[in-house]
Amino acid sequence: KTFEEAELRDFLLNNVKKSGYKKPTPIQKRAIPIIMGKRDLMGCAQTGSGKTAAFVLPILNTIMNDKDTLNPGKPQCLIVAPTRELVIQIRDEAMKFASGSYVKVALAYGGAASRYQSENIVQGCHVLVATPGRLMDFVNKGVISFDDLKFLVLDEADRMLDMGFRDTIDKVCNHSTLNKDSLTIMMFSATFPDEIQRLAAQYLRNYLFLTV
Ligand code: AMP
Repeated sequence: KTFEEAELRDFLLNNVKKSGYKKPTPIQKRAIPIIMGKRDLMGCAQTGSGKTAAFVLPILNTIMNDKDTLNPGKPQCLIVAPTRELVIQIRDEAMKFASGSYVKVALAYGGAASRYQSENIVQGCHVLVATPGRLMDFVNKGVISFDDLKFLVLDEADRMLDMGFRDTIDKVCNHSTLNKDSLTIMMFSATFPDEIQRLAAQYLRNYLFLTV
């Protein structure tokens, strides 16, 4: 299987080529069609498997196809990850594919001034990549609304639980599914203990389970 067979738009295929990716990794081969079909997904995958591109590419493809109006403070995709480092890595991977397009990617993470971050969010971003704490700060301050969300990704869910973010994850999932029947939720985790299985059972609907 090739990236071409994934039916990504030419713009993204071009950027995939420019990034030097010759063929999709196993998780990319399997996850991209599932996410393009807007099916919920639980993916067990390690860092290094190419999981970031596996969810970022179909999300960008959908956002570019739909061309929905971008509203201030209302991201269309929210990616939650445990640390600032990971959030920045995800943004960098997304920008490899989104650069040269109109798609805006914003960040929210702790340990840095919130003003610049919130300005970017308020101006409008299609994709927001955030750590749980700063994300909830912004939600509570009314900077972010989940009204326009189409995709929610919980990356490294096991690490977020280990770090004590279970309550925050519950809030994010409950907020983002409120009044919405068309939200695609994806969870990625390196391990699949009971706690993660329960989390998946609680929030994912009719989901596919992938392990690589
Ligand atoms: P990840 O597992 O998402 O953290 O990705 C691990 C590394 O593999 C990152 O540096 C990516 O840029 C790179 N990568 C992801 N997919 C591919 C691919 N299909 N071909 C070559 N490198 C890739």
